[in-house]
Amino acid sequence: MSNIIEVRDLKKTYKDLDAVKDINFEVKQGEIFGFLGPNGAGKSTTINMICTMLAPTSGSIHINGYNVKKQRNEVRKSIGIIFQENTLDEKLTAGENLLLHCRFYNVPKSERSKRIHEVLEIVDLVENKEKRVETFSGGMKRRLEIARGLLHYPKVLFLDEPTVGLDPQTRAHIWEYILRLKEKEGITMFLTTHYLDEAEISDRIAIMDHGEIITINTPRELKKQVGGDIIELMTEDNKLALEKIKERVEYIEAYEKDGVIRLKVKSSDEVISTLIKELELPIQSLNIRKPTLNDVFLTFTGRDIHQTENEG
Ligand code: ADP
Repeated sequence: MSNIIEVRDLKKTYKDLDAVKDINFEVKQGEIFGFLGPNGAGKSTTINMICTMLAPTSGSIHINGYNVKKQRNEVRKSIGIIFQENTLDEKLTAGENLLLHCRFYNVPKSERSKRIHEVLEIVDLVENKEKRVETFSGGMKRRLEIARGLLHYPKVLFLDEPTVGLDPQTRAHIWEYILRLKEKEGITMFLTTHYLDEAEISDRIAIMDHGEIITINTPRELKKQVGGDIIELMTEDNKLALEKIKERVEYIEAYEKDGVIRLKVKSSDEVISTLIKELELPIQSLNIRKPTLNDVFLTFTGRDIHQTENEG
């Protein structure tokens, strides 16, 4: 598979802060690339440099074979960006919003109505073409924004929190459309999200922290790296329980947070019987599970993604 994005020794320095520190990575043609990290990690700075909106301090970026510094126009034609905030003109109809974008991107006049119809079809909004955007639901607006991002046939679509603020059912729908785009149109997706269950959709995930790419791998491989079983328990006296656990159980990680003891072990089977026999404390709740992307995130960054969401 060829690379649609190549980032080499990319760096951005603000005064004495290295927001992005000589990072290297590739995005493969046709993949969904998840880009995760706590607030302040350097994600936006990186994405803004990739999308030609911010000049790097040093390093190089190629998209679709074009150099981001020297071939900006070609790069801009190669990418579509779907921002977090609604950037539609609510007073205009869906069709009028799309037409504006066609003009902005110099889509030839003779092609405009065909393309508008095409993208509305992809997101199931053909019937709503003549309706004003202000009458749309949140999910419909998002779909229209996705349609707009597709009008100029980009090779890569940048999706910044594409489902934020939507209800679970609408979120699931948006993902259906995104997957359909990947399958049918072969468009590469560069995705950021705080919903780690949604990040599962990614073919590969990069985790960034403190200006560096800490790891890049498939969700499955990342979870395998975290490994083992995770036991979460609550007792009447967590402090005492944790002391006993540390004495008597073979663990990889054990700590208490928010009233829950979190225990990472190689295999839960033996540990559970030890806990029940030797803890000598009433267990209020016990939960055993395999690592999720949340655990991956926690292991690599030391922080919970939702905790960081509120910080900055
Ligand atoms: P993220 O998108 O992962 O939350 P950012 O790329 O926005 O992270 O920020 C990375 C770091 O760079 C942060 O410490 C942030 O405060 C800093 N930063 C971002 N933009 C600027 C700017 N224009 N001037 C100075 N510092 C900035």
